[in-house]
Amino acid sequence: MIRARNLISKLGLLCGPLAKIGVVLLVTLLLASALPVKAQSKRVEELLNELIFTPTTPRPSNWTITVLPQVQWDKQVKTLNLRTATAFTSMNETKNATFLNPDYVFNSTEHQLLHTLAHEAGHLICRCTDERLANDIAEALEGRQ
Ligand SMILES: [Zn+2]
Repeated sequence: MIRARNLISKLGLLCGPLAKIGVVLLVTLLLASALPVKAQSKRVEELLNELIFTPTTPRPSNWTITVLPQVQWDKQVKTLNLRTATAFTSMNETKNATFLNPDYVFNSTEHQLLHTLAHEAGHLICRCTDERLANDIAEALEGRQ
């Protein structure tokens, strides 16, 4: 009887610290999943400055670029039934919004990511969904023409 009671009280003592460890782990996981996105956004911002915008291919106005958290990216791609592993852009009269796959941003080379940004800018500049035209504009923005 004494042994059993001891065991129960020991479990009670353990539960407190375990719960705290659980909370700490959860917070750590949340931070770990949020921090890379922020770092990736900075990388995107730096790359954007490398694109060569001109009067004929100007930087799109009101252009926001967001590196989505992975869960949100997966959900959006599924919901909108998109066939992309890199980025997608939505445009209307007042808003130009590009969304990036965090996994791609993290694992792509500078060259690949720069091209993706240039390509999405290409869509916004031509205000079209034409992939070839977007690529042509991207080449110019990347200084490959
Ligand atoms: Zn495209």
